[in-house]
Amino acid sequence: MIEVITDIEEMNRLSREKRSEGARICLVPTMGALHEGHLSLVRIALEKADFIVVSIFVNPTQFGQQEDIDIYPRDLKSDTEKLYSLGAHVVFAPGSSSMYPKGYSTFVSVEGLSEGLCGRSRPVHFRGVTTVVNKLFVIVNPHIAVFGRKDAQQLAVIRRMTEDLNMDIEITGGPIIREEDGLAMSSRNSYLNEQERKQAAVIYRSLCAAETLVKSGVKTSDNIISKVRNILEETAMAKIEYIDIVDVDSMKSVDDISGSALLAVAVWFGKTRLIDNVILTV
Ligand code: AMP
Repeated sequence: MIEVITDIEEMNRLSREKRSEGARICLVPTMGALHEGHLSLVRIALEKADFIVVSIFVNPTQFGQQEDIDIYPRDLKSDTEKLYSLGAHVVFAPGSSSMYPKGYSTFVSVEGLSEGLCGRSRPVHFRGVTTVVNKLFVIVNPHIAVFGRKDAQQLAVIRRMTEDLNMDIEITGGPIIREEDGLAMSSRNSYLNEQERKQAAVIYRSLCAAETLVKSGVKTSDNIISKVRNILEETAMAKIEYIDIVDVDSMKSVDDISGSALLAVAVWFGKTRLIDNVILTV
């Protein structure tokens, strides 16, 4: 049995009950339209805890005014079936007006970390993410929460928030799950037309080329970024938003790689913005 809860108080009550019974609670926050990337996080949760809550909430505060919230894919029935067959315990799917009732005015923002990379073109995005994750943490009160490394900046921002606000929650990152041609799975991949979808595989190819370059001894960010840019530019439909190499924790650009660093890219195919990343280790 899987329970679908939309009521905030009911979710909170159930979590409190489970805690008092000694259960270890794990939260996997998502916006639904679940794919293997999301499901891999639920599998990690099942290994780490005994009561798994998957939240499904297309969070309006993390979308800019020109962004795709209205067309964002939604399929609660199929999501619930997938989660049931995996063995998750609760789908928490609150409505927008109960999460943000009239008069709502409180936001949580992590400074610095939220400003580079995706934060440059999406200035309200991380404030929306940290606000909703904060609310979900208060409602579900989990011991552990699992996030994908596909959204590496988001993971860094949430780790920072949890530490800064003294939250007693273990934050776990899961690996990026990819399609056969290397494209990172994303609910937004469904927006791509056939030609865009085919060409989008270039993103992962460019990241792999960077890894190969680093293995051959290149450590200078400029050289690695040029290589990635050249490969992406060979694909007619790819429009680069950013290519950056940053410190894994601070998300600040680094000139040279020592130890390891994150190579992160955002690339547009038509109206669809795709992000991906890889850890480069010397
Ligand atoms: P979203 O529904 O896009 O907000 O994503 C919910 C969670 O799933 C986030 O922690 C994402 O980082 C994670 N996620 C999304 N796509 C992938 C993927 N391809 N591999 C691993 N995790 C992912």
